[in-house]
Amino acid sequence: MRVVEDIKEMQSIAASAREDDKKIVFIPTMGYLHEGHTGLLKRGRKLGDLLLMSIFVNTIQFGPAEDYKTYPIDIETDIKHAEKAGVDVLFHPDKDKIYPEGYQTFVEVRHLQRNLCGLFRPGHFVGVATIVLKLLNIVRPHIAIFGEKDYQQLVVIRRMISDLNLGIDLLSFPIVREHDGLAASSRNSYLTPRERKSAASIYKALCKGHELFEDGEREVRHIINGVRRILEKEHLVSVEYVKICDLDTLEDIYDIDRIALLAIAAKIGRVRLIDNLILVSS
Ligand code: AMP
Repeated sequence: MRVVEDIKEMQSIAASAREDDKKIVFIPTMGYLHEGHTGLLKRGRKLGDLLLMSIFVNTIQFGPAEDYKTYPIDIETDIKHAEKAGVDVLFHPDKDKIYPEGYQTFVEVRHLQRNLCGLFRPGHFVGVATIVLKLLNIVRPHIAIFGEKDYQQLVVIRRMISDLNLGIDLLSFPIVREHDGLAASSRNSYLTPRERKSAASIYKALCKGHELFEDGEREVRHIINGVRRILEKEHLVSVEYVKICDLDTLEDIYDIDRIALLAIAAKIGRVRLIDNLILVSS
């Protein structure tokens, strides 16, 4: 596996792979790899000839009061995981090369960024769309893979790829969970043992929502109340939002008359976690 820091070197590796008719699969991450990431990587390995991943903690998607400065980093261990998962090239650029002095171009996917996390993290999805577009321009992959855990991100990026005619296939990967259902996340490493236990209530709450839906409940406020009750039993958990929205537009819905997304964001102590589940009639 090659570890590449230089943008031009990355561009030239990708360009020569394209000339050789190799199918390039790209998976962007912020590192501190876990089973969610390795799930994406293993899927990517099967789909292409050149598997590229990036590790870049993207300053501009963090708000001033958020955890950019403490975001977990362990590049040595990440290199081992990436190698084991069959990555060919790990792109690990420097922040000052990605956003040099004078940088001033940003990408906004207007409506899709408004609800859910966008309500609580102003500017977050502009930061996400901007870095993803930059990385896609550098690598110019045939396929990019994103996880369904960050569902809003997935929808925003899909829209951007389509709106800007990037001609890249975007594939999504299902949420990888730990033994008690907690979605794997780099941020889980911040949790104390007591917080880690409480964090399992997020998945429990999603399952409650699913159960109510399966039992025939279609009124969103009833499902949301049931979900909130599970979360509110845990005193270490403070709910940021519980929402049910349209899977494509991400707009709130009030009666579930179509396939819908049940999404939660909650703080466990100071750690903000998100998770979701799709409600579909069986
Ligand atoms: P991150 O490093 O957190 O920015 O995540 C990089 C990619 O991995 C994103 O596409 C995420 O949606 C995806 N990802 C993170 N955690 C999970 C998970 N538990 N299951 C599936 N995909 C995930």
